[in-house]
Amino acid sequence: IGGLITQYAFSQSNFPIESDVSISDGPYITQNNDMLDVTWVCKGQYKASSVSIASLPYSFSDCGLTAQIDNLIPPLQKVTYVGEFKVAALSDLHGQYDLMLKLLKNNKIIDSKSNWNFGKNHLVINGDVFDRGDKVTEILWFLYTLEQQAIAAGGDLHLVLGNHEVMVLNNNLKYLHQKYLRTAELLDKPFVDLFSSHSILGAWLRSKNLLVQVNDSVFVHGGFHPALVDMKFNLLAINSIFKENLVEDELEAPRVGFAKYLHKSDGPIWYRGYFKRLRATAAEIDSLVAHFNVKRIVVGHTSHNKVESRYGGKVIGIDTSIKRGLSGEILFIDGSNIWRGGVNGETLSIEYKP
Ligand code: ZN
Repeated sequence: IGGLITQYAFSQSNFPIESDVSISDGPYITQNNDMLDVTWVCKGQYKASSVSIASLPYSFSDCGLTAQIDNLIPPLQKVTYVGEFKVAALSDLHGQYDLMLKLLKNNKIIDSKSNWNFGKNHLVINGDVFDRGDKVTEILWFLYTLEQQAIAAGGDLHLVLGNHEVMVLNNNLKYLHQKYLRTAELLDKPFVDLFSSHSILGAWLRSKNLLVQVNDSVFVHGGFHPALVDMKFNLLAINSIFKENLVEDELEAPRVGFAKYLHKSDGPIWYRGYFKRLRATAAEIDSLVAHFNVKRIVVGHTSHNKVESRYGGKVIGIDTSIKRGLSGEILFIDGSNIWRGGVNGETLSIEYKP
């Protein structure tokens, strides 16, 4: 318990907020029969309104906050997408909304007005939008809208779940920026209720997958432990079992067996074994990519200064420390061409390391 409290205190003191007047956040929108209840905080003040679902689409704009809801059913999430298109991927945004916009604009994925500019191509956000930073809600609504624009253009956006999404949905708020605890107080609700299954963003997050295969790459937040090869589960089964056990309080019984394994430290949202001590061997990585029938596994979660390739390109790490708010990179894959997009939109080559 001592360790937990120390860590909590550390994360709190790390992110001071000056006063309530500096807080604007939201909107948090919840379905209530045939109405949407809309609440938000504007310069420290609680605000609320409601709109009829019959009047959708609904555009929200107040106090520098925006949201756009066209319909209440989140887009269908498949596990595999195949086609002649480019894939761009970035990861571990951790509330760094402004840096994310800069990266996406400079790399021409969005235009100067932050609208989809990537045509029929696909963008993967490889988990960990939540925690640490103080513009998480802005990123969520931005991605929510960008996904609709991408689909309308014949492209797509895939947000896969990271450990921080799963932590927040399970009411583990250890890394939450202090601003959000104050938001929840001002809205007079436990923070976790702001992302309940009845909320627009909560339902949208629950619709998201653990992983996505796009052409010959599979994207997952932490990585796949080599032991998964012997367990004989394919990507579809791993995703389904993980998703069916996403929010422990919403289950009839606690997670057991393989579901419990998938949600623990060797599981796909927490694993670090491609980069850190007790690294997987080259033979184990060969078995993994053969088992899943892909050319490479693209992961976030373990931070680097740039996009890092390991095991001759069979593993690519794309957590480029955006969480620090200073810089970051985007991975691009176009058939057999793979490159890094720099923060100023420069094209950079990838260095292959064992
Ligand atoms: Zn992570």
